[in-house]
Amino acid sequence: MSKVLVLGEAREGALRNVSFEAIAAGKKLGDEVVGLLVGDAVADLAQELIAYGADRVITVEHPNLAHYTSDGYSQAVLAVVEQESPGAIVFGHTAIGKDLSPKVASRLQIGLISDVTDIEGEGADAVFIRPIYSGKAFEKVKIADGTVFVSIRPNNIAPLAKDAGRSGDVSSVSVDVQNLRSIIKEVVRKSTDGVDLSEAKVVVAGGRGVKSEEGFEPLKELASVLGGAVGASRGACDAEYCDYSLQIGQTGKVVTPDLYIAAGISGAIQHLAGMSNSKVIVAINKDPEANIFKVADYGIVGDLFEVVPLLIEEFKALKV
Ligand code: FAD
Repeated sequence: MSKVLVLGEAREGALRNVSFEAIAAGKKLGDEVVGLLVGDAVADLAQELIAYGADRVITVEHPNLAHYTSDGYSQAVLAVVEQESPGAIVFGHTAIGKDLSPKVASRLQIGLISDVTDIEGEGADAVFIRPIYSGKAFEKVKIADGTVFVSIRPNNIAPLAKDAGRSGDVSSVSVDVQNLRSIIKEVVRKSTDGVDLSEAKVVVAGGRGVKSEEGFEPLKELASVLGGAVGASRGACDAEYCDYSLQIGQTGKVVTPDLYIAAGISGAIQHLAGMSNSKVIVAINKDPEANIFKVADYGIVGDLFEVVPLLIEEFKALKV
């Protein structure tokens, strides 16, 4: 696997962290990491990929690539794979990566190892670790030979230190992106407080114990003080206390922040599937027998409406 192709993912003109994590994964797999940027006007982002370890960058720019579509992006990626013949291709296991990687892998008739959380060993000896059975177990996968396609779970593989002084070649590949079966006319974003839940370093999540939409206010404030994002259990979403876009778990988002604060969440297995790999878990629950305490590093038995304001006060004081 001497050459590795890594997709850099941009959103609203900025690269997502998972792009840098994918480069770090690529470095473990091969000698040369080639960053790939697909979009309408993405060349300005190439230097940042190089600063995080890409040896060179290829851009594919076309007006039909202004928004993600699986048809458009797969045409771009396939053209570059054909030109470069990489030994490995690495994407983030994001909404885009989850859609694009099986499509491209099946077109190329190569194996896909998805949702990788760690890589042991290097090059042809690399062993890929990925959760199975909703995170209850991990499997180790090794590729016998040939090209491998890997998607990595955000927030698991540490990016390399940024070195703004690194240099590398930036070239473009021209692809006539046509025959799209879907065309994105406009993207209307839901208003959020800014921090992307899947990439947040701190997540403050509320469950049915939050009791109402207003009950989420203290959690929003705590998340804001900690520079994090708000998440939720399905219980809270089903009760209409918050939007389903906040749902974490087996049928929601998978998050692996440095700090996960679960308030009023019982810890059902389907919820744990989306957060149990967080680095530090703090649970706040009135019930000392709640299942969430089994995965928590720190447990606070108490009423969240008393505990969360105290945490806000303490964290604010620490910041002063
Ligand atoms: P509850 O289980 O009702 O727990 C509320 C908790 O709040 C209790 O532990 C209680 O002690 C505590 N509490 C109450 N008041 C307070 C207070 N004032 N202060 C502190 N603590 C308090 N769930 C998910 O979360 N994500 C998923 O992706 C998901 N997918 C699912 C998929 C399937 C196929 C199925 C069948 C279920 C799925 N679920 C999922 C639902 C899951 O099984 C649970 O029903 C859900 O997680 C429960 O949400 P909860 O913990 O908020 O509510």
